[in-house]
Amino acid sequence: MTLPFVPSIGTTPLSARQETLLTLAHELGRTRFAPRAHRWDDSASFPFENYDDLREAGLLALCVPESRGGRGADYATYCMVAAELGRFCGATALTFNMHSCSTLWIGLLADALPMTGEERAEHGRRRDAHFARVVERGALYAQPFSEGSAAAAGRAPFGTTARRQTRGGVAGWAIDGRKIWASLSGAADFYGILCTEARDDDAPLDMRDTLYIAVPSASEGLTVSGEWNPMGMRGTVSRNIRFTDVFVPDDEQLLPRGLYYRAAQAWPHMFFTLSPTYLGIAVAAYDFTVSYLRGEVDGEPPVRRRQYPTKQIAVAQMRVQLEAMRSLFWRTIAEAKPDPSKDERLRLYAAHYTVMEGANDIARLALRTCGGQSMMKHLPLERLYRDSRCGSLMLPWTAELCLDRLGREALYEPGEKD
Ligand SMILES: Cc1cc2nc3c(=O)[nH]c(=O)nc-3n(C[C@H](O)[C@H](O)[C@H](O)COP(=O)(O)OP(=O)(O)OC[C@H]3O[C@@H](n4cnc5c(N)ncnc54)[C@H](O)[C@@H]3O)c2cc1C
Repeated sequence: MTLPFVPSIGTTPLSARQETLLTLAHELGRTRFAPRAHRWDDSASFPFENYDDLREAGLLALCVPESRGGRGADYATYCMVAAELGRFCGATALTFNMHSCSTLWIGLLADALPMTGEERAEHGRRRDAHFARVVERGALYAQPFSEGSAAAAGRAPFGTTARRQTRGGVAGWAIDGRKIWASLSGAADFYGILCTEARDDDAPLDMRDTLYIAVPSASEGLTVSGEWNPMGMRGTVSRNIRFTDVFVPDDEQLLPRGLYYRAAQAWPHMFFTLSPTYLGIAVAAYDFTVSYLRGEVDGEPPVRRRQYPTKQIAVAQMRVQLEAMRSLFWRTIAEAKPDPSKDERLRLYAAHYTVMEGANDIARLALRTCGGQSMMKHLPLERLYRDSRCGSLMLPWTAELCLDRLGREALYEPGEKD
């Protein structure tokens, strides 16, 4: 089958599953998410209606294995689908990333990492319960990791702590701490937090003791707070969350103790999943520019601007950048696996940087080229421009930190020092 549209990742050979899922994402995005996108942006509110649609289409279970009732998307398929959603509503695609990665990490990612037989059996039992919540109840998972420290950058232990406790005969964890920038705050049913095990001997917190635990949103001691009036990605509603002596049973663990730390070292592609949203935004800015210069934007006067060589050159520059971005994106998602080679790892940083900065470059060129009338609020371009700026700010791989890793790891082998 040939798709009747060019997907965000560009035309490329696809499996039957990929074609089906991309078509579904494209149709939902085109007919429902794009027309609503300005509403979430104007009011800085969460796109609940989009999530009802995603739930109904079975896409909340995109990365849940088929054997557990999900859509069985692998890593590359997830990235393609997310890029397709990003083209129509950035905030929906970005929050969909937090939700979907919760299932991808405990599924496919965990399967590829070494565990003891006992750990794997226990993890299998626990994750089945998380999958069932998504498949049967349409539950939403968030990923609030950031704390305003070096922890989300992977350079310090998380200050949010989990202390071993038994309450009412149930073994579990007492959680204390604060997260900032929690996308889906107030919308998620479960907050999948990263925290550090606080050992009884009051030993200093250690990154190797990082725990990944789902905290039910209705938990006693969990509060959402803070103003929410950001420049872009306003529909993500990423407010603060405070945990005060919140008790969660053992079975809420999303990964076995210590596995997140090992995954972050061994499976670096796990952090690239933030970038598909921004590839989608870049495609949307490019598509809008072509339509606008051709005088074909719905509801706008059919004024053509394509005849000016300056506009043609700008579109050419945008296309060059978009094609470079797509090629690198495509190669990177095909290379995702545990323990990538040094060459693959360096390419991964380069790809993340290229997409995050490139999306904003393309949106900037789009605004400059389409001109003053194109930045009016009733058109999507100014929103795409604002949303596109946010990608490079996201930890652990901000644009600065991608360059930092790339330069250092290119020049130093592990263990080398000057
Ligand atoms: C739209 C949006 C949605 C988000 N959603 C979520 C979410 O759902 N969950 C979540 O956990 N977070 C989320 N974040 C937060 C994001 O991942 C970052 O944690 C946040 O943007 C960092 O802001 P900060 O002011 O603390 O910046 P800082 O951490 O102060 O960073 C400022 C700059 O300093 C650099 N820097 C930071 N740490 C180091 C270091 N250790 N070494 C060297 N340089 C460093 C970085 O390059 C960064 O650009 C979201 C952010 C945005 C913009």
